[in-house]
Amino acid sequence: MKPSCSVCSSPEIALATAMIQADAGVDEIATATGLSAESLERHMVECVAALAEDSLLNSDERMRGLAAQIGAAALASGLQGDTKGQLAGLSLALRCEIESRRALENRLEKSKTVHADPENPATWPAEAQKLFAGFCDFVLKARCDAAK
Ligand SMILES: [Zn+2]
Repeated sequence: MKPSCSVCSSPEIALATAMIQADAGVDEIATATGLSAESLERHMVECVAALAEDSLLNSDERMRGLAAQIGAAALASGLQGDTKGQLAGLSLALRCEIESRRALENRLEKSKTVHADPENPATWPAEAQKLFAGFCDFVLKARCDAAK
């Protein structure tokens, strides 16, 4: 939230936020709240979008914290002889770990795509290498069939 934003500092911020989350249009929100369409548009770009980016970054941090807490709870259950609770906790911690790992892999794959060199297949993401190999096979087969 920016203190300089007239939407953020408006008493209508709760209504505006609820309407934004419900995918209401800028004009619709302006009519309902009395705020100007220009300031609402600026708020969407500078405040709402910035917040979404921030929560994506913080999400990883929260996930790691959660996994650590679950791990500690599972350990405590185990020490108290509660093996069912221990297993349930470990299974949850594992799921958190898998989710974090998937997010990291997605990010890695995305960054590879951005830095892929068209003249160096080794820099291509695995999916692109597979697609290209399939394409080459297809072309070769078509050429071979045509030559018969
Ligand atoms: Zn704002």
